[in-house]
Amino acid sequence: MIDNTSLFKLSYGLFVLTAKTDKDNGCIINTATQITDSPKTICISVNKANLTHDMIMESGEFNLSVLTEEVPFTIFQRFGFQSGRNAMKFFNLDVRRSENGLYYLPEYTNAFISGKVLKTIDCGSHTMFFSEVTEAKTISDKPSVTYDYYFKNIKPKPEKKKGYVCKICGYVYEGDPLPADFICPLCKHGADDFEPLK
Ligand code: FE
Repeated sequence: MIDNTSLFKLSYGLFVLTAKTDKDNGCIINTATQITDSPKTICISVNKANLTHDMIMESGEFNLSVLTEEVPFTIFQRFGFQSGRNAMKFFNLDVRRSENGLYYLPEYTNAFISGKVLKTIDCGSHTMFFSEVTEAKTISDKPSVTYDYYFKNIKPKPEKKKGYVCKICGYVYEGDPLPADFICPLCKHGADDFEPLK
């Protein structure tokens, strides 16, 4: 059997992956890992739905910017929730170019790694790019953000509704404050039998 939650136990980093053809583009990925040290190779996996995927297929090059725990949610909105096909992902953002001419992010990152594709593996929804490291630079000593940290600390929590629940029948009154003369429409108990939603 396969317990789906088992795969959530794998840890992941979060990265801005940039590419360049006739224009610059980037997306967020959580799948990047070093494969060998000598020579230095890394592997990234990119969803085929991303324009950045097609651009790496075409150019054979990419930059991986390693995000830190200081990264604000807006970076994920900018690179993760919109397509480079119709959004200007780099507008008003601090970017630099590495030796290969591609963008990397000097802010909210602790390093960038430039990759040159040696081999691609078609994995269905994704393509794996096995790549040689052509340049790498450390930007800061801030800790790299993990997928787990992102969910616990960066991604906004759904807003909690304010309201009161009837202790007798469980009816929920949405709103604050609860009117003093409120009568539960289900069990007909009064406001005294309500408590704030937790
Ligand atoms: Fe009630």
